[in-house]
Amino acid sequence: MKLILLGAPGAGKGTQAQKLVEHYKIPQISTGDLLRAAVKAGTELGKQANEYMTAGKLVPDEVVIGLIEERLKEDDCKDGFILDGFPRTVAQAEKLEEITDIDAVVNIAVDTSILLDRLTGRRTCKECNAMYHLIFNPPKEEGKCDACGGELYQRADDNEETVKSRIETYNESTAPLVDFYRKKGKLKEVDGQGAIDEIFQNILKVLE
Ligand code: ADP
Ligand code: ADP
Ligand code: ZN
Repeated sequence: MKLILLGAPGAGKGTQAQKLVEHYKIPQISTGDLLRAAVKAGTELGKQANEYMTAGKLVPDEVVIGLIEERLKEDDCKDGFILDGFPRTVAQAEKLEEITDIDAVVNIAVDTSILLDRLTGRRTCKECNAMYHLIFNPPKEEGKCDACGGELYQRADDNEETVKSRIETYNESTAPLVDFYRKKGKLKEVDGQGAIDEIFQNILKVLE
């Protein structure tokens, strides 16, 4: 099963990807997570990427394509994978076609008006990257991950100003991928508003 999760920032890609990992026992590959790891490690690539991420802009195609190419060569990707946050441009999607054959693309559709609240309230576990929301999906104990007890943090780019720029970037560069994959007959559409578990069940249904 080689899957892509498409959707605006805050649509719920990461949240649903984590549930799909458990269900299908295949890895989640998030270019955002890979880039944040490079930023944290202070590598040259991380330093370059950080400027774009802080501005809510896309990191150049060559950089993320390089990261994905390396990641997909790893052993755990043999039986499939879930791409979360890649591709984000038509150029990335075309390059991906050369690298591998994707089975399905799930577009998690949400209204733009809900994205700001979703993103500014998002909290992430430092240890295992599990996703929470202060209001919509709070942890049992404040500031602490239910799954591993790790500390929750707020991403630097989940502030109002950067979020607005990320949404514009999405509309300009990433939204065209919906048509791109529809034309290829790979697109599955799911309503991304409602309870997290309900959305998950709908994703499983469209993938059957
Ligand atoms: P979101 O939760 O908004 O979907 P991600 O964690 O996927 O955010 O991405 C965070 C940031 O990392 C993006 O705003 C962008 O700067 C960069 N990024 C992630 N994936 C890509 C990609 N495929 N192409 C270019 N930039 C990317
Ligand atoms: P993405 O990876 O697409 O940027 P996330 O999965 O990180 O999105 O979700 C963004 C925020 O919205 C997180 O705080 C998450 O807990 C919350 N969230 C995800 N799905 C839902 C939902 N169905 N209803 C309400 N909040 C949600
Ligand atoms: Zn955790």
